[in-house]
Amino acid sequence: LSGVQSIIQKGLAAAEDIFKDIDTEAEHDDGTLTLDRAKGALSIQDLSYAYDGSDSLALDQLTIDIPAGGRIALVGRSGSGKSTLVQLLARFYQPDSGVIQLDGEPINRYRLEDYRHQIALVSQRVVLFADTVRNNIAFGELANKSDAEIRAAAEAANCLDFIEAMPHGFDTVLGDGGAGLSGGQKQRLAIARAILKDAPILILDEATSALDNESEAQVQAALDELMSGRTTILIAHRLSTVEKADQIFVLDAGKLIAKGTHQTLLEEGGLYAKLYQQAFDVSE
Ligand code: ATP
Ligand code: MG
Repeated sequence: LSGVQSIIQKGLAAAEDIFKDIDTEAEHDDGTLTLDRAKGALSIQDLSYAYDGSDSLALDQLTIDIPAGGRIALVGRSGSGKSTLVQLLARFYQPDSGVIQLDGEPINRYRLEDYRHQIALVSQRVVLFADTVRNNIAFGELANKSDAEIRAAAEAANCLDFIEAMPHGFDTVLGDGGAGLSGGQKQRLAIARAILKDAPILILDEATSALDNESEAQVQAALDELMSGRTTILIAHRLSTVEKADQIFVLDAGKLIAKGTHQTLLEEGGLYAKLYQQAFDVSE
């Protein structure tokens, strides 16, 4: 009887998980425009957003233009709204007011599936599944990629050394949430995903923050290669990685307070110069 009891308990727990997923509301999508490959011009106009239950704006009338293939950076203190903007760009949330356009059309007009194909996102928190390394790199829409492509992406993201050190290489099953991997290894897997996705828009939200200097230098080379010819949005606290952006946008409390190149912003001596100086002090 006690044997049966434990089997039933496991079944019940599994059923509960499954029904929770089935009951989850589908993402809202009333887009009808199809989109194969976007050019990648993004225009963010007067965007405001407050999280549910919060009375302060996470984004406050933000306006940013990014030409197709351009490389911009978002900088600002922790909590200034950088990741919130990424969430809105990915259509995870809907803005309270304002609009984001891709190639001249409001992003909501595109079919959600088509739209998401255009964006490769390496986010601050890497999501990994209890599945093989291969399936973690090539998940969802990427599942039809060949082993050679997956391997090439892993190599470019500087993952091969630790993957090949695992007992079954690419067939090693990871723990839930990537348990057993270091923060830097998880980030490199996420970068491999982005490389494999080959999307016209690339968003890197603290994509290399958990890497040591040596791995960062190696991954940075792969990222530089990946960024060329794509619209890129870079977010990094280590300002050395954003210096090369065409234009840098400085956010503070959800507002755009300055924009310019690394050089002009330093000369202005505002928040950017201050953050840059602080980063410098810490790394010394
Ligand atoms: P960091 O540099 O630390 O990543 P950030 O610039 O990315 O910071 P956001 O994550 O965009 O900052 O947060 C902007 C504001 O929104 C903060 O005040 C934060 O507390 C709030 N916030 C972020 N996520 C949520 C959430 N899921 N629910 C409620 N408030 C949130
Ligand atoms: Mg963030």
